[in-house]
Amino acid sequence: MASRVIPVDPFDLVIFGGTGDLARRKILPGLFRRYSSGQMPEGARIIGAARSDLDRAGYQQLVNESIAEFGGAEKSDTAMLAKFLETLDYTPIDAKGEAGWDALSGMVRKDVVQAFYFSVAPSLFGDLAQRLHAHKIATDQSRIVVEKPFGRDLKSAKALNKSLRDHFDESQVYRIDHYLGKETVQNLMAVRFGNVLFEPLWNNHYVDHIQITVAETVGVGGRGAYYDRAGAMRDMVQNHLMQLLCLIAMEPPGQFGADEVRDEKLKVIRALQGVDPHHIVRGQYDAGPNGASYREDAENPRSFTESFIAMKVHINNWRWAGVPFYLRTGKRMKSRTSEIAVVFKDLGHSIFEGDEKRHRNILSIRLQPNEGMDLQVTIKEPGPGGMRLVDVPLDMTFAEALGDSDHEVTDAYERLIMDVIRGNQTLFMRGDEVEAAWAWTDPLINGWEGRNDVPKLYDAGSSGPEDALMLLHREGRKWRELKG
Ligand code: NAP
Repeated sequence: MASRVIPVDPFDLVIFGGTGDLARRKILPGLFRRYSSGQMPEGARIIGAARSDLDRAGYQQLVNESIAEFGGAEKSDTAMLAKFLETLDYTPIDAKGEAGWDALSGMVRKDVVQAFYFSVAPSLFGDLAQRLHAHKIATDQSRIVVEKPFGRDLKSAKALNKSLRDHFDESQVYRIDHYLGKETVQNLMAVRFGNVLFEPLWNNHYVDHIQITVAETVGVGGRGAYYDRAGAMRDMVQNHLMQLLCLIAMEPPGQFGADEVRDEKLKVIRALQGVDPHHIVRGQYDAGPNGASYREDAENPRSFTESFIAMKVHINNWRWAGVPFYLRTGKRMKSRTSEIAVVFKDLGHSIFEGDEKRHRNILSIRLQPNEGMDLQVTIKEPGPGGMRLVDVPLDMTFAEALGDSDHEVTDAYERLIMDVIRGNQTLFMRGDEVEAAWAWTDPLINGWEGRNDVPKLYDAGSSGPEDALMLLHREGRKWRELKG
């Protein structure tokens, strides 16, 4: 099934931080793939901007090398790549000074879609917004794209929001959470709201509990200094896991519009109960055969920062009263797995003699690896010997089921950037959502920081600390296995 590519309108996309890691690894290779697919129209331009003293040819070379290194260009794409490089330009600019702004002003066209990607440290967001405004480069129609981390607590998130809103309307701000750009995450909404099958069961009458897992095998690597100030709660839970929680738990919006969807997500965040500290397990990975300990990686021998967190969360509303949501995320774990599992209740009574097992339907939505979903159903074990039951998955891997190689390569970033150009904010976090998420996480973080809680050690390559297993075991439940 070939995917339908609808070209977007002509645009000028300025990437502040266009020489940085994110631009070279994700944004530019992603844009090249969109160009190759025919989605970038004639007349679209990409302008890199950073302090480095490059000219247009120098930037084209940097982007050429980035695409070669980080994917997107097969050998047969040489001619396509040469054409893509022609869409690029560059201007040296300093977010904190006046150098370069007049030159940028002369480059950006006023009669096409204008997008400004702030791929720089958040401490520069306010400077960029202010100078775009002061130099009359941005218009009322311009869009700005900002990256996580969006603050480290409610106070700093409010300050960041204000620094953007002083110059741009909320309808112009696109806060990226790349998890929301994943095919599966959008499919989660399609499955829930496009089928008659699931929605009637999507409540506390039929759902026993929900698990959300984002496990990584990598450690903190070169990000140790940043990560040690953040930890898993700020780096993963406050944004990615909470966004997934919102999408799985929200009420059906009246229509699939940006504010309708985001209004419903906001209601979920506001309905979250405070979490009992006994229902939070923080962990830190220990040295193992394949790598150093967290403290060595973070170069902080006395660090109390968590590289793992598991928690039980409740949502105070009619639909979810009494249904636990178990969230778990960590680094240096057994496998790279991101999954949402909706575990339905058992039947309560079996008519099949000798069938002692508790059979459960489980809908699992895989974000990685192999984006897809499966539904565990109970069937008769094939062959003679009476009615023995067995649980099997009805498995659908999107790349196989849809038979479309484009689905394998359409990365979340490229999809989201095209949404920016289209002016569709549905998959971007609104300012009030971000603030509500911090308002919920702040007291939890302040709690363990105030108590100087020491995270539990776990073996690198494991499923996390023993206490995290106990969080579910003591309630007669168990975590979904991380397949190594
Ligand atoms: P990076 O590699 O350090 O790049 C920073 C960029 O900003 C460089 O292009 C740098 O170029 C430019 N820059 C620095 N100071 C500047 C100034 N005063 N004026 C203009 N440009 C300036 O950082 P990154 O990893 O790309 O991250 C960028 C943003 O994305 C950060 O907010 C980060 O938290 C976020 N993020 C990154 C990733 C990732 O995978 N890398 C993932 C999620 C979020 P010059 O030195 O030449 O000026």
